[in-house]
Amino acid sequence: MFVNQKNRVALISVSGDPAAEIGQEEAGGQNVYVRQVGLALAQQGWSVDMFARRISPDQSAIVQHAPNCRTIRLTAGPQKFIGRDTVFNYLPEFVQQFLAFQKQEGIQYPLVHTNYWLSSWVGMELKKHQSLVQVHTYHSLGAVKYRSVSDLPAIASTRLAVEKTCLETVDSVVATSPQEGEHMRKLVSTQGTIEMVPCGTDIERLGSVDRLTARGELGIPEDAKVALYVGRFDRRKGIETLVRAIASSKLRGTSDLRLIIGGGARSGESDGIERDRIQSIVKELGIEAITTFPGRLTESDLPIYYAAANVCVVPSHYEPFGLVAIEAMACRTPVVASKVGGLQFTVVPEVTGLLVPPKDDAAFAEAIDRILENPAWGEQLGETGRQRVEIAMSWDSVASWLGCLYEKLISQNAPVSAKTSQVAA
Ligand code: UDP
Repeated sequence: MFVNQKNRVALISVSGDPAAEIGQEEAGGQNVYVRQVGLALAQQGWSVDMFARRISPDQSAIVQHAPNCRTIRLTAGPQKFIGRDTVFNYLPEFVQQFLAFQKQEGIQYPLVHTNYWLSSWVGMELKKHQSLVQVHTYHSLGAVKYRSVSDLPAIASTRLAVEKTCLETVDSVVATSPQEGEHMRKLVSTQGTIEMVPCGTDIERLGSVDRLTARGELGIPEDAKVALYVGRFDRRKGIETLVRAIASSKLRGTSDLRLIIGGGARSGESDGIERDRIQSIVKELGIEAITTFPGRLTESDLPIYYAAANVCVVPSHYEPFGLVAIEAMACRTPVVASKVGGLQFTVVPEVTGLLVPPKDDAAFAEAIDRILENPAWGEQLGETGRQRVEIAMSWDSVASWLGCLYEKLISQNAPVSAKTSQVAA
């Protein structure tokens, strides 16, 4: 298929490498979002370069994902993993490396789409050097995150200030859910432009396996009642709530109840510490025999695990969007989620799943039991979830919306002479 070559765009994600392995320490939804948006935009004719910080000398400096879609790793600071809260000091170097890359390639990006507050700072600095449109997706807001943190990190005031300047000055901020948009308005600033474009999911790959086949692959009996968690090990993900809910399920002991907790973790890192903590709670509650920890799930594992489950549980304390919920829905699996953030947009209560107050073990247990005890209803919820995702949340439709936004902003930013010649042509 011939597609007209559109403009170049740079997706900047300093701390969320789109070419990284997903599902462990600091590699989750942001990495998936950038990679999938990049790939889908390239399919639609854009020339996409995605920029991240190089965290090891063993990493390739350039990864070609598809024609017109590559990840470029810039060296800024030591080539090793550094927690997000300490990357800020290396951002001026990142900006210099970006400018040097443009020069070396003989190109100038008309638009950058920045991801997470660190990259928003990079975009705002770049704007001081060249004419540029900046679109920004927050992925997480300091103003929301810090509400539940008693011990604020040293970087907190810088982050809050950068997030406010970003909303007030960039060409457009993308909210991935109406709830995230409301938080921006209430907690960050009443000024600036916000467009709502949801996150997406791979509706071809996810949903391609049926439950029986998936169970066959994983060795799970047909009549087992399976609850699934997928995600990083982080306290804010609320895995403890799920574990306690399963321990108090009515179904415990009366049927083949199982809990699968999927996600990677590195020993000694903060995710490894959280995994160890969860494993010790599982032991203490006496549910070791029914709980499994398969580790990091790859792209090809995910459709199988989601399809094998009767219910996918997203017990996060907060989620600006929550990709896992729509991935499960794409696989026709109903979702029980915390009634927070973007989960209130993706999960429609009693239609595609159930929403319950965060951190409420008893409410989670009741909601999970309701679905596990009514398999026919569970399947109906799953089917509607699939329809909801197909209609509005494929990466293709997300990239089309973003592409329209980019085109509009690029043409508004074009010099007057270029606009006149476009009209004349
Ligand atoms: N993920 C994965 N393998 C794992 C665990 C998670 O690929 O073992 C992916 C998951 O499928 C989803 C992303 O990581 O695409 C997590 O995104 P989400 O928005 O749910 O949470 P975040 O990590 O951004 O907080």
